Amino acid sequence: MTAAFLAILVGWIAILGAAFGSFFNVVIWRVPEGMSLISPPSHCPKCGARVRPFDNVPVLAWLWLRGRCRDCKAPISARYPFVEFLCCAVAALYGASILVGGWIGFASQTLNWSDFAEYSAAWEAAVAAFEADPTQTTALTFDGYWAAAQKAVALSFVWAFAAYAALILGFVEWDKGAVPKSLVLFAAAVPGVGLLTILTLDGGAFAEHCGVFFASVGLGAASTALFWRAISRSERAEAAALGALWGFCAGCWGAALVAVLLGVATAVRRKTGRNVFGLLVFAAIVALAVGESVWFATR
Ligand SMILES: [Zn+2]
Repeated sequence: MTAAFLAILVGWIAILGAAFGSFFNVVIWRVPEGMSLISPPSHCPKCGARVRPFDNVPVLAWLWLRGRCRDCKAPISARYPFVEFLCCAVAALYGASILVGGWIGFASQTLNWSDFAEYSAAWEAAVAAFEADPTQTTALTFDGYWAAAQKAVALSFVWAFAAYAALILGFVEWDKGAVPKSLVLFAAAVPGVGLLTILTLDGGAFAEHCGVFFASVGLGAASTALFWRAISRSERAEAAALGALWGFCAGCWGAALVAVLLGVATAVRRKTGRNVFGLLVFAAIVALAVGESVWFATR
């Protein structure tokens, strides 16, 4: 019962992640161009034909269209399904990690497998009591499951959005060489909104959450100061936002590592002219999530 429920929940989180990925493709493409996110609706850049709703299914539509526009057969970049797949995988990873082991960050203090096992045990006991005495029906309730499921979905996306923000900044930098202020503000807001979400879910540990949060995010952002002169003026806010995101995911012990990532990104930039800092932060967040999941699973 518990295992099937958790598998369905992770699947649902993964589908939601893929849908976010589909939307972020639009963000990466349109925001730097100053275009509206809503209108015009998705269309082929070559022939202008509108994308049909069933051809908008993340990852799968690109596969059944064989990477070509349904109308004019112009090739569609593999970037689109790639971003959708990454967003799907990140959400599923955080979902599974939070549900099965408990995340080492804030989430481990708010939710883990035993929450569900307890609800499951309570539910099975209620079923047994009902079978013994069919007049006793009041104890049969899914409230505990439902509350824990909502918590799991919300927490998964608190962490997934930190990775998504780094991914968006990374790809926009890769494409355009610069990031609009609106996207930097979005990335900087993610840790703050994330903290508020965590406090809403688990207000009891307020002081603990806030102390770790400000230390981690602050240290991550401050680490970029080491490379202050190597980063161009316009990119300092972006670098600080990416550092804060990394601190949010890695905690204060990992926050200083942002300086290493920025050092690598600076070296790559000197060689290739490309700013890969955002993509490196994204890769680091995913590596951290995989590493901690494996650690929890094998503990
Ligand atoms: Zn077309």
